Amino acid sequence: MKLARRLANLGTEKAFAVSDEAAALTKRGRKIFPFHIGDLNFDTPVNIVEAAEKAIRDGHTGYCPNQGIEELRLALARDVNRSHGTSYTAENVAIQPGGKPVIGKFLLSLMNPGDGVLYPNPGFPIYESMIAYYDGRPRPYGFREGARNFEIRMEHMTHAIEQGTRLLILNDLHNPTGAEAGERELADIAKLVCKNDMYVLCDESYFSIRYEGRSKSLVSLPGVAERCVMLYTFGKKYAMTGWRIGAALGPKEIIDAITLLNVNHESCTNHFIQYAAIEALTGPQDCCRQMTDELKKRRDGAHAILDGIQGIRCYRPNATFYLYPNVTGAMQRRGIEDCEGFRRQVLADTGVSFCTHLHFGARPPDQTESYIRLAYSGIDLDQIEEGLNRLKEFIER
Ligand code: PMP
Repeated sequence: MKLARRLANLGTEKAFAVSDEAAALTKRGRKIFPFHIGDLNFDTPVNIVEAAEKAIRDGHTGYCPNQGIEELRLALARDVNRSHGTSYTAENVAIQPGGKPVIGKFLLSLMNPGDGVLYPNPGFPIYESMIAYYDGRPRPYGFREGARNFEIRMEHMTHAIEQGTRLLILNDLHNPTGAEAGERELADIAKLVCKNDMYVLCDESYFSIRYEGRSKSLVSLPGVAERCVMLYTFGKKYAMTGWRIGAALGPKEIIDAITLLNVNHESCTNHFIQYAAIEALTGPQDCCRQMTDELKKRRDGAHAILDGIQGIRCYRPNATFYLYPNVTGAMQRRGIEDCEGFRRQVLADTGVSFCTHLHFGARPPDQTESYIRLAYSGIDLDQIEEGLNRLKEFIER
């Protein structure tokens, strides 16, 4: 078989491989504590399900406009304008089959072969995969442990920009660390982006998953919306990950380019699901509050146990459904040197399944610490407690 050469540059989400591993163990009768995948074990709210059923019965089963139905684009523009202070209209929105497709379409619309693109490491692995696949130059920026949470290493950004990089991917609020950019960081990034005439992909997949305070967006800062594509997804906010619906929001010229990519890639996003998305945006919102209330209990329960494990250091982020503990000391206690070995041994010994920093990018040369990512979106509180107590017992044994 002579597969295309460019496939050599295409990466993957290695977290799915951990899911397969966990599923195989479950099949063999092992009890697994699933902290590995950022999916939600909440049902999609009934009003949204009913809106989809009605849309099918009403015959919204043919093609629809490539950009998405106008009523949904309008509802989403209004919703984002309320939370972000932007002035998007329906023409600034292109509906997508999920948030993920926005990553590749942003690059295809704005990146030429050889262009450098800044992206977070650790970060969602599809950024690097798509940059490399479409012949860009991946330019990672890192994070350091700050006073209250991880902070972006701005010197990595400025260095790549000095060398001519003009595209930036920002994932705020951040997977896998749960960190959010502070006001100062956002202001610095906005200044860099405007001064250097850059384009930004603002991946806001987790914007509304937060427990205290309010999320702030780079897009809200003066001068940024004109040079920014926002990645929006219904997946996390409304427990709709498998429905595959999201959107790109941005300047009309870029949205027109992305719409042309829609024509070429999928014609249109699933028609009747767009009516369910309208119901999600305009219907009752108490489902979102109930879900974040429950997620907050899980975060607190998980953090309290991690905080009591010798050799683990962990922030308690106010947003996303991830914890990203530093496990360097725990690995030393157990005499385990590599992170993948630690993951495997914990899984085999305790059934606790998680990803490590290696699932979110290659270890940077100057990184000495090891981290794991615990997603608490798909596991109930009693299981969180049982699993993490097993982890504690394993580390302190
Ligand atoms: N960006 C980030 C940072 C994510 O974590 C995810 C999903 N885990 C996505 C994008 C993709 O979201 P969707 O399922 O809506 O395609």
